[in-house]
Amino acid sequence: MPVNVLFSARPELWPVYEPLLTNGLAEARLDVNLATNMEPDQVDYVVYAPNGGLLDFTPYSRLKAVLSLWAGVESIADNETLTVPLARMVDNGLTQGMTEWALGHTLRYHLGMDAHITVQDGAWTPTAPPLATERTVCVLGLGELGQAVAQALAALNFRVLGWSRTQKDIQGVTCLHGTDGLRTALSQAEIVVLLLPDTPATENTLNAETLALMPKGAKIINPGRGPLIDDNALLDALNTGQVGHATLDVFRVEPLPLEHPYWEHPNVTVTPHIASETRPVTAAQVICENIQRGEAGEPFVHLVDRQLGY
Ligand code: NAP
Repeated sequence: MPVNVLFSARPELWPVYEPLLTNGLAEARLDVNLATNMEPDQVDYVVYAPNGGLLDFTPYSRLKAVLSLWAGVESIADNETLTVPLARMVDNGLTQGMTEWALGHTLRYHLGMDAHITVQDGAWTPTAPPLATERTVCVLGLGELGQAVAQALAALNFRVLGWSRTQKDIQGVTCLHGTDGLRTALSQAEIVVLLLPDTPATENTLNAETLALMPKGAKIINPGRGPLIDDNALLDALNTGQVGHATLDVFRVEPLPLEHPYWEHPNVTVTPHIASETRPVTAAQVICENIQRGEAGEPFVHLVDRQLGY
């Protein structure tokens, strides 16, 4: 009997993923029926993205797992109709893209690039930027993405502080955890990169109190999720100069509404949730591996802890 795999994501992705998944599953010698539409009680696996429209898993009576194409799973982790394992996306392409994006925006701040890119007024002020060894960057979240970013920053010789829920040990990175760890990290952070998941425990990690801990004029880069930051507190901190500039890729409401003050703020750069994305070639391999594992009775990889929400 074939394995039935339902692809539930944006329709434009189907022509991209269909051949990749078909070939990958054939290489795994699996007899698979892959489609965008299927009787729910026939589905074995769902390849899932939040914008595919699937909300109620109740009729999916023989489902074995939901395999997310997204790394962030906040919109499905607390879905009570889902009672089978949920795997999130860990994809080398996604990680590489995030590392490049975070490095680029960190270097923009570190080197003070805006001063020369945006102002060409004939003034000759020959002040060289400091070295990375003289700059402290803090990465909040040391998972697949945060760890790669922290290591890449360390490889450029930045002083890197990292913060996570549980204690980590990463070469070149001073790792901290817990409430005190966050205070220690932020109090030294000239540039902060947020790569935490959106969970009840991480909401408003940056708020009026924690923003006030940072050195005056600190820069914020948020490719994590919008709710990690208390927006009003950040706007206040930007207006007083406590925060010098923020680069924000993710928001509580996306697309960011036109009337939102971030669009107009001179010290905010808005990017439209493009820090990185799942890359189909490598992501399809991850999906195929998990279907292969499920069929072989082996444990799935990249499982979400539904209690923790990530
Ligand atoms: P991950 O591997 O699950 O890592 C999450 C990290 O956050 C872990 O280090 C975890 O700590 C830490 N964490 C979770 N809750 C915490 C808490 N309460 N206090 C302190 N640390 C906490 O996730 P990932 O793959 O690196 O992805 C991170 C996030 O990036 C995703 O959830 C998604 O929101 C975002 N993302 C954005 C884009 C974009 O284009 N903007 C693209 C992909 C992903 P432990 O290690 O101790 O568990």
